[in-house]
Amino acid sequence: MSDKFDVIIIGAGPAGYVAAIRAAQLGLKTACVDAFTGKDGKQALGGTCLNVGCIPSKALLDSSRQYWNIAHNLPAHGISVDNPKVDMATFIGRKDKIVKQFTGGIGQLFKANKVTPYFGTGKLLKGNSVEVTAADGSKQTISATNVILASGSIPIELPFAKFDGKTIVDNAGALDFTAVPKRLGVIGAGVIGLELGSVWRRMGAEVTIIEALPDFLSVADADIAKIAAKEFAKQGLDIKLDAKLNKAEVKKDGVHLTYTDKSGEQKLVVDKLLVAVGRRAYTKDLLADDTGVKLDERGRILVDEHCHTGVDGVWAIGDAVRGPMLAHKGSEEGVAVAEWIAGKAGHVNYDTIPFVIYTEPEVAWAGKTEKELKDAGIPYRVGTFPFAAIGRAVAMNEAVGQVKMLAHAETDRILGVHMVGPGVSELIAECVVAMEFKGSSEDLARIVHAHPTLSEAVHEAALSVDKRAIHKGN
Ligand SMILES: Cc1cc2nc3c(=O)[nH]c(=O)nc-3n(C[C@H](O)[C@H](O)[C@H](O)COP(=O)(O)OP(=O)(O)OC[C@H]3O[C@@H](n4cnc5c(N)ncnc54)[C@H](O)[C@@H]3O)c2cc1C
Repeated sequence: MSDKFDVIIIGAGPAGYVAAIRAAQLGLKTACVDAFTGKDGKQALGGTCLNVGCIPSKALLDSSRQYWNIAHNLPAHGISVDNPKVDMATFIGRKDKIVKQFTGGIGQLFKANKVTPYFGTGKLLKGNSVEVTAADGSKQTISATNVILASGSIPIELPFAKFDGKTIVDNAGALDFTAVPKRLGVIGAGVIGLELGSVWRRMGAEVTIIEALPDFLSVADADIAKIAAKEFAKQGLDIKLDAKLNKAEVKKDGVHLTYTDKSGEQKLVVDKLLVAVGRRAYTKDLLADDTGVKLDERGRILVDEHCHTGVDGVWAIGDAVRGPMLAHKGSEEGVAVAEWIAGKAGHVNYDTIPFVIYTEPEVAWAGKTEKELKDAGIPYRVGTFPFAAIGRAVAMNEAVGQVKMLAHAETDRILGVHMVGPGVSELIAECVVAMEFKGSSEDLARIVHAHPTLSEAVHEAALSVDKRAIHKGN
């Protein structure tokens, strides 16, 4: 087989592998280079998301939720289980099996679509060639008319709390504990800290989350963040805000943390420490010096609104470029770039990307927060509806949280929808569709929603924008 391609993609995460499949579907001769090695030492396609991110975290969130429910939800249904036991090998093994199923699935999709995979580190050379270095150091060079850089991101390491893979860990380490830590410290109350903190809290760990920012979940709408904080506190997640970690020392009896909060210096000893203070674009060994591809001030590959680097035929997508670090954002960029390369009309609407936190309750939103609208001076109306008044949520014994809808005061166009509650990771999709079609709250209010479903909370919130919700006072 010739090693000249129409498109080479470096990185087979959700940005890169999706770009590869779409490019191949469009008839382009496509290769995808990836260096990720699975637990079995073989190539594992799917990047962070499939190997150590979205999928394994959701697998453990689901397993831990089942366990938590035994003591915290089933009794309300009149069901009790004596002495529930956890088999850690099965708990972690189930997650590993799911990961293998999905990473293997990408290999099959590549085969079906005739994408050629390369296993090794890809380096972009001047003139759109890619040097692939295998694990044994052997090199080969392939070339293409177009190269898409999709090298993703890696966890940010704190200089005073370096990862050792055992006691001070990143996301990958926290997905692979062999026993439930008695005391787990988490640095960072962002999505990853909250999700993985929740997993181990539900399994019985005492979890303390140390967050430097004064406001909890400041990226979310303030009302939603407030409800979520209250629910997480009820579950025993001890979230310390405005608290900065200064030191983490691994000693015989655990990790000794020193942090500063409003009252001064504090000490805490934990058995394991998860550092989840964010991720940064990964570009190590990706670019030869003379490619002309530039990085921005945060080390991300610099691109325009069409994910183009400014160098002929070189594009970049996913976590390696600006925008939210989300799998579906990267995937949509991958599809769009493949379509642009094929001369078609690609499209990514960055204003309607949904954000989801898979805690209990879940948190989800799309569009502007109330604060963003206020700051921008945009006139708006608010509709809210609590899950406490939703029959299905009450029947499930999960009636916490609310849906909050923000619509333009004059045009009624939906500008943002924010939710905390059961199943909101799925409910947000309806709102994204409405927003994508430039819909109004009136549009959603006039649509028939099945009864009894959780989606009635969206319907009622839409009605509430116009102060005509049926099942609450307006
Ligand atoms: C614990 C956790 C949970 C998450 N949960 C969610 C979630 O629920 N939903 C969501 O949307 N997002 C989630 N994310 C974020 C999501 O994983 C990322 O946004 C997504 O993986 C980014 O996709 P990507 O393709 O840009 O990069 P990545 O998935 O990071 O993939 C990049 C790939 O490129 C490879 N690579 C890098 N450089 C080279 C090179 N030079 N040569 C060859 N290969 C290279 C890497 O090995 C990797 O396989 C989560 C992340 C974590 C850590």
